Amino acid sequence: MSLPKKSESNHQPLVHAGDAARDLLARWGFDPDNVAILPDRHPQYRECARHGRYPISMVDEQDVIRYLAPVCPVCAAEQASRQLMESAAIPERYIDCGFDNYVVEIPGQQTALDVCRDYADHFEEHARKGSCLILCGNSGNGKNHLAAAIANVVLAKGRSVLQVTAYDIIARIRQTWRGGIGNSTELEVIRRFAEVGLLIIDEVGKTFDTDGERVHLFEVIDHRYRDMKPTIILSNKNVEGVERYLGPAAFDRLCQNGGLLLFDWQSYRRKRSDTAASPRGEP
Ligand SMILES: [Zn+2]
Repeated sequence: MSLPKKSESNHQPLVHAGDAARDLLARWGFDPDNVAILPDRHPQYRECARHGRYPISMVDEQDVIRYLAPVCPVCAAEQASRQLMESAAIPERYIDCGFDNYVVEIPGQQTALDVCRDYADHFEEHARKGSCLILCGNSGNGKNHLAAAIANVVLAKGRSVLQVTAYDIIARIRQTWRGGIGNSTELEVIRRFAEVGLLIIDEVGKTFDTDGERVHLFEVIDHRYRDMKPTIILSNKNVEGVERYLGPAAFDRLCQNGGLLLFDWQSYRRKRSDTAASPRGEP
């Protein structure tokens, strides 16, 4: 008699409960007289206070009892998505933002919606190419709403998303300087920002405009560029302002095979032209 095969999945080891099962069960540390381990006593269930009955064992086609993790599957799924949301760090007020509740009143908003929805829907492709998106222009025009809508879709695809402000990145990198922490730790922080599936950098251009800050943001953007990782930039500045703040090298990396959306509805209203949101290049 051979030992039971190890299951290839993350189920616990299999227990053959056939004719000669008893000595085997004893060898595995089970009590052979415990009828609860015999196949006709399975599947067994436990009760979740919130979601009701769930199986903790099953009998497969070969009469093999498979013991499942004694955890409510609904609770486990909830926990997993909660952890993902926390690591996503989407600001609380944007968590419910989706494409369906983005209000479109003018053509520019429709263009912005179309570009962002397309970016989210084809994220796998964008992730492969590392294509980025720059959403810039007046505040209060729904940049954050659309960025959060993209984030929610990307999260649902099982990818990691992190939204931080430019200040967060600069501060986090500079924290490593204190207490004589060496360059390797600074590099580790940069690498952590570089590893995320989709990094959304908010409030670009809001901090002081210094070369030191520019270097930190460049390091993160450049790392991601080299790893072909997509980044979304949010800024209240206009296109020239974003380029000046990030520096031409970082700006070029973001624009290379990426898209740029100018959220400029006020000037749309003033000018009555429909060039308000003009995606530049391929998003
Ligand atoms: Zn439950």
